[in-house]
Amino acid sequence: MSFIQTKYDISRLFNSKSEISFESSGHIDVKYAGNKTTKDTPINLKIQMRNVYEKLEIDLELGFTFESECSRCLDVNLVNKDRNLTVDFNKNQSNDYDIDFGSDEIEISPIISELILNEMKLQYICKSECKGLCTECGKNQNLTICKHPKKNLKESPFSSLTELDL
Ligand SMILES: [Zn+2]
Ligand SMILES: [Zn+2]
Repeated sequence: MSFIQTKYDISRLFNSKSEISFESSGHIDVKYAGNKTTKDTPINLKIQMRNVYEKLEIDLELGFTFESECSRCLDVNLVNKDRNLTVDFNKNQSNDYDIDFGSDEIEISPIISELILNEMKLQYICKSECKGLCTECGKNQNLTICKHPKKNLKESPFSSLTELDL
């Protein structure tokens, strides 16, 4: 999969005072904690830019999918999101995204990355009743619940059995 287009020619916009729009689809690398975008699922972007006096308004419509690893059972799930964002910039002032409106081409990947990062959680749990992994053998307890005795629990009703070495 090719990368999503993040560089856009805005020279036309400042000459004609009109509105320009683009669509692009592809990959962008975004990673945070147990989350990451993958090349298997394209990110879809619609972008509109308007020149309003000293301001440049940018409308973004982003559809994206990323992988999230459950913090308890480590199972990887796909998370789908659709998010819209409108940002405006004063062309003559610096901005948080370091976008240079003095040039004909702007690079908007920081805006796209931020929009995706906002949806990525530090702790992701696949479902509220997720049982996590067995502390003894590491098996996913959502699939099968381990029946074997737990070695380190002295109070366990099974501890006498393990001592007999059956
Ligand atoms: Zn889980
Ligand atoms: Zn186990």
